Amino acid sequence: MSRVYNFSAGPAVLPEPVLEQAAAALLACHASGMTVMEMSHRGREFIAIHAQAEADLRELMAIPANYKVLFLQGGAAGQFAVVPMNLLRGKHGADYVNTGQWSKKAIGEAKKYCKVNVAASSEDANFSYVPRAEKWKLDPQAAYVHITSNETIGGVEFYWIPATGEVPLVSDMSSHILSRPMEVSRYGLIYAGAQKNIGPAGLTIVIVREDLLGQPLPTTPSVFDYKVQAEADSMHNTPPTFAVYIAGLVFQWLKKLGGLKKMEEINAAKARLVYDYLDQTEFYHSPVAREDRSRMNIPFTLRNAALDGEFLKQAERHGLTQLKGHRSVGGMRASLYNAMPIEGVHALVAFMREFERNHG
Ligand SMILES: *Cc1c(COP(=O)(O)O)cnc(C)c1O
Repeated sequence: MSRVYNFSAGPAVLPEPVLEQAAAALLACHASGMTVMEMSHRGREFIAIHAQAEADLRELMAIPANYKVLFLQGGAAGQFAVVPMNLLRGKHGADYVNTGQWSKKAIGEAKKYCKVNVAASSEDANFSYVPRAEKWKLDPQAAYVHITSNETIGGVEFYWIPATGEVPLVSDMSSHILSRPMEVSRYGLIYAGAQKNIGPAGLTIVIVREDLLGQPLPTTPSVFDYKVQAEADSMHNTPPTFAVYIAGLVFQWLKKLGGLKKMEEINAAKARLVYDYLDQTEFYHSPVAREDRSRMNIPFTLRNAALDGEFLKQAERHGLTQLKGHRSVGGMRASLYNAMPIEGVHALVAFMREFERNHG
């Protein structure tokens, strides 16, 4: 079976050079006579792999020294609970901005721990835009303000960073972390599941400002206490060692490519190919407000939804897979993560044109 262009929203495509290195690593023994997957997380060799991955991530994202980088498990959905457990710090409520299905899930989980103030929402328009800052009703007493800076399902992305004053800003960046430079110092906490734009499933990355640590709810499990994990270099318990190793290879790949500024140029060019075409045809439609359109996840519909099944079937035949949209949006969704080569996007747009010619 040859390799397809995989437009899945996650777990998603990985860079081919990384897969080749990972394949070799499965059997290659280090000085200890063991392969990466078999090493103790407490041994010198794995500690070096872990430290290198953290150093490379810090370099790529220009993470300031007063931020901790944690390699955890439990997914971004785990963080929906772990964030309030750690960041409430004696306060009663938190602000959440509701821009899509993932914000909604984060809100639902946070409600188990605190009073949630939905400061702004785009649910009235099926999550097709980011509410302008002037419309937000922030609570100055909030423990933090939570946003989902890229909504994987709705395809809505923040291209601006909300000003929240003294209140720490928290962002779920699962589906666009590393897609472009992010000004980490503007956030109190950033989290992301790895399986969209970092590496394989099983690893969750948390980047958190040091002064926010140390006041968890008393019932917080130790493995989810940021301070405990920070003091143990994320090794309070066994980290997902092989996932950390592969994430490290992805960081190296990004560095070799030229870093996040370069990655941003490539991602902007890829997204432009699709959006430019969507904007010049009546056959397809983008449901998202222009200025908020995600570069990573591009939902689009066929004006004639009766053709959806045929579109997907023929796309599959052209080696273009996982294009079916989420049921809440309908139609299609093309995820163009870092590892999607521009050739894949050219192939997608060429196919869309051909399909339009044959069915338009
Ligand atoms: C995929 C995703 C999640 C859920 O991640 P899990 O690893 O399944 O917990 C949460 N938020 C966003 C924005 C996502 O894209």
